[in-house]
Amino acid sequence: MSGAEEVLHWGFSEFGSRFAVVTSFQKEGMVLVDMAAQLASPVRVVTLDTGRLPAETLGMMETVEQRYGLAVERVKPDTGEVSRMVDAHGLDLFRKEVVLRKLCCQVRKVRPLDRILAGLEAYAVGLRRGQAESREGVEQKALVEGKWKLSPLAYWTAADVEEYTRKHNVPVHPLYAKGYTSIGCWPCTRAVTSEEGERAGRWWWEVAGDKECGLHLTPEGKMVRELDVLLAELVNA
Ligand code: SF4
Repeated sequence: MSGAEEVLHWGFSEFGSRFAVVTSFQKEGMVLVDMAAQLASPVRVVTLDTGRLPAETLGMMETVEQRYGLAVERVKPDTGEVSRMVDAHGLDLFRKEVVLRKLCCQVRKVRPLDRILAGLEAYAVGLRRGQAESREGVEQKALVEGKWKLSPLAYWTAADVEEYTRKHNVPVHPLYAKGYTSIGCWPCTRAVTSEEGERAGRWWWEVAGDKECGLHLTPEGKMVRELDVLLAELVNA
């Protein structure tokens, strides 16, 4: 059993149905789904259906269900939060300011993920150290806010992923054939050139990044992040 399989096996044996593979059906996630399906049954596969996914990703959910005989758990954002956000800032708010992009990701991804994680003790994701500078420190097992976050492929290279995919005939997301190297919501993802990094096609218009401090004062004088203020307006409405 490879190191990656051992980590997955640990997740299943320790936590059973309170362990799931969380994936957006990119190549790494599909390797995990395939490995998991060989190791255990039933396998819980969870995905975030943000409401802005490309049709190809929705198609991958059906492909996975047919190939592996499982029901993908589609986790959706809270409809009230989404509609208040869109009313306040517009459907494509992520193009206006970095903080609004983060707000959209909070409402459509982070908060729904938190809700599903509340029912899990451990979950596996397809992060690799080589994907981006920000992922260089990814560990195969990390205890994050009381949950085990497993990254079985942390030490895999892109070539390892390709080899496994070929060898096991793992279904591949169709957008890779159109030049995508990282796939998320359709308005925030584009194809990349061979000179660009793997994640260059995500939020490519953001040049200011996190340079703004984004802090505000509450009426009591407490410092809060601009994102927290915007989120509180939606959640507490
Ligand atoms: S990737 Fe874009 S559309 Fe998707 S949640 Fe984040 S900002 Fe919103």
